[in-house]
Amino acid sequence: MPTLRSICVYCGSSDSAGEEHRVAAAAFGQRLAERQITLIFGGGRSGLMGVLADSALEAGGMVVGVIPKVFNRPSLVHAGLQQLHVVGTLHERKAMMADLAEGFVALPGGLGTLEELLEILTWSQIGLHRRPVGVLNVGGYFDPLLQLIDHAHANGYIDHPGTDLLISDSQPDPLLERMAGRDPLGAVDRHAAIGGKGE
Ligand code: AMP
Repeated sequence: MPTLRSICVYCGSSDSAGEEHRVAAAAFGQRLAERQITLIFGGGRSGLMGVLADSALEAGGMVVGVIPKVFNRPSLVHAGLQQLHVVGTLHERKAMMADLAEGFVALPGGLGTLEELLEILTWSQIGLHRRPVGVLNVGGYFDPLLQLIDHAHANGYIDHPGTDLLISDSQPDPLLERMAGRDPLGAVDRHAAIGGKGE
């Protein structure tokens, strides 16, 4: 069974995250560490980002943050990471996070999380990468997004239904195992369409 060695996680920075989501983020960070998967994330200390990183670090994991200089302030940045890359812009951050990771997972979050998730999925669809993209679907948080993708698919705007594009599971281990075993569908079709110019 193939295994992923690093995962980029997108998740909420808001401190208003509820208990169910905080518990899930902590469990995910712990399992990444126990499976010796390096966590790549946005480098923040707040919200689920902080919970996730703290938990991975506590369990002995390797955690790499990528933060734009605008967020590189003590009130925002996580101070305990093994590696922190400070980059110029939000766009540079997303590009570096993507370069460092073998797969991508979104945990519950807000606009930043959704934007990062949809961008990496779009890059997959046009064949810029062939790495798996998943969501930790805690309490069905991502069901409305999966339904929206299905709706766009039914209207002819997206080649595949939501659950074909996004690997969705409420539990860390099945999610990581399914991601490790799967080549993303969209990339296969469109990669060929653009003449294999991506990875
Ligand atoms: P949001 O879901 O709107 O809270 O945005 C979270 C996502 O945007 C994370 O995955 C980060 O990459 C980025 N982000 C937003 N706010 C921060 C912050 N204060 N510190 C670090 N990264 C952040």
